Amino acid sequence: MRVRVIGAGLAGCEAAHTLSALGHQVLLVEMKPKKFTPAHRSPGFAELVCSNSLKAERLESAAGLMKAEMRLYGSVCLQCADLCRVPAGGALAVERESFSRLVTEKIEADRNIELLREEQTSIDPALPTIVAAGPLMSEALAGAVERLSGGFLSFYDAAAPIVLAESLDMTKLHPASRYGRGGEDYLNSYFDKPGYESFWRELCSAETAPLHDFEKDQQVYEGCMPIEKLAKRGQETMRFGPLKPVGLRDPATGRRPWAAVQLRRENREGSMFNLVGFQTNLKFPEQKRVFSMIPGLERAEFVRYGVMHRNSFLNSPKALSPDLSFRSAPLVFAAGQITGFEGYMESAFCGILAARFMDMKLRGRQPLLPPPDTMGGALLRYVTAENRDFQPMGANMGLLPPLPEAVRDRRLRYGALAERAMSSLRRYLEDVK
Ligand SMILES: Cc1cc2nc3c(=O)[nH]c(=O)nc-3n(C[C@H](O)[C@H](O)[C@H](O)COP(=O)(O)OP(=O)(O)OC[C@H]3O[C@@H](n4cnc5c(N)ncnc54)[C@H](O)[C@@H]3O)c2cc1C
Repeated sequence: MRVRVIGAGLAGCEAAHTLSALGHQVLLVEMKPKKFTPAHRSPGFAELVCSNSLKAERLESAAGLMKAEMRLYGSVCLQCADLCRVPAGGALAVERESFSRLVTEKIEADRNIELLREEQTSIDPALPTIVAAGPLMSEALAGAVERLSGGFLSFYDAAAPIVLAESLDMTKLHPASRYGRGGEDYLNSYFDKPGYESFWRELCSAETAPLHDFEKDQQVYEGCMPIEKLAKRGQETMRFGPLKPVGLRDPATGRRPWAAVQLRRENREGSMFNLVGFQTNLKFPEQKRVFSMIPGLERAEFVRYGVMHRNSFLNSPKALSPDLSFRSAPLVFAAGQITGFEGYMESAFCGILAARFMDMKLRGRQPLLPPPDTMGGALLRYVTAENRDFQPMGANMGLLPPLPEAVRDRRLRYGALAERAMSSLRRYLEDVK
């Protein structure tokens, strides 16, 4: 049966290419150039809407490991990226027009793929479909996706930064819940008065990221005020909001602290923590500079910076099964940024995975997920696992299960994690042949 893929972005092109390579006929539906999202400009496929960097290449980095895994799966985006790379230190950056042209040519030349340049406005749950229409998908389609997801579609991303647990100074962080309720669920960082006041001053003067025209609609931010905006309302405002010190006691003084920042576990393993109430529109280097003033976060490694922008994404843990198919429509899969795989290459990777799971389903096989100690398997589990405050996530080493034995040196540890992931993936790819 022919598979319909909606959207010829990074995820859609990978999905179409993978399905074709697995012997399926594909109808790839792309609305450009008849209609453009507010961020897309060119008629070509796999358009990079912002940066031209596909991030680090070193195997012992999360982005590098992810790309190495994608190469084993036969990623079309990486094949094309290799042909149009531009010098960028240790990163893989591309000449964006050539990249898009090369991917478009590859897809157009594929005999198993038929192209339809139309806006898709509905989804038939009875037809095998991969929805890869991106975070700015057209309104009509968003309505159809929202219905299919049981209302679990967010339109705006208002996320607080996430830091790697191992980069925190635990001597300055205090595990506790307010009023002792709920055990030691949070890590608390306490400000004294002078520390709080300098933090507040830096936060008020920090540089924010420019908003796109389509993001300026103030309705976007109702109920999720950026921390810097809150700070600008007055020196005390944060102390009555997310930095309120009530129900907590600083063991150093035996008294209530002046202000408290709470860090909440991001995953069950406790390898990542998010800064509660710190959704922000500050530029990324500014987030690092200012949030590193929080006691215990001086050397924090940010696995995800806070963002506030338009970004439709599914509440995947609720809407999707572990194989990326909709719980309400098992023949319809989601792929790309809308699933919460955050970033260009993550989105592309998700397209490959969704296509492979579609292939398994059409062949009547149980979906066999990639192992959790691979970056693809870890991301997949992250976006579909139970999560109350689900937000998209990019590749990072904190997602991988720890090594059986602790390795102190970070470079060596990441190298060992990457090596384990690659052997695990090779075995998996043999098993699913
Ligand atoms: C403004 C913005 C900037 C970003 N910058 C970066 C960055 O610098 N680096 C990074 O790693 N990530 C970035 N991202 C996040 C993410 O990596 C990109 O959104 C990425 O392009 C997602 O890939 P995708 O394949 O899921 O969707 P897209 O690449 O957006 O592809 C979706 C495709 O579907 C088409 N489409 C939409 N609706 C329909 C419809 N109804 N019918 C038919 N076709 C349709 C679109 O025209 C588009 O071609 C950014 C996201 C946004 C919104």
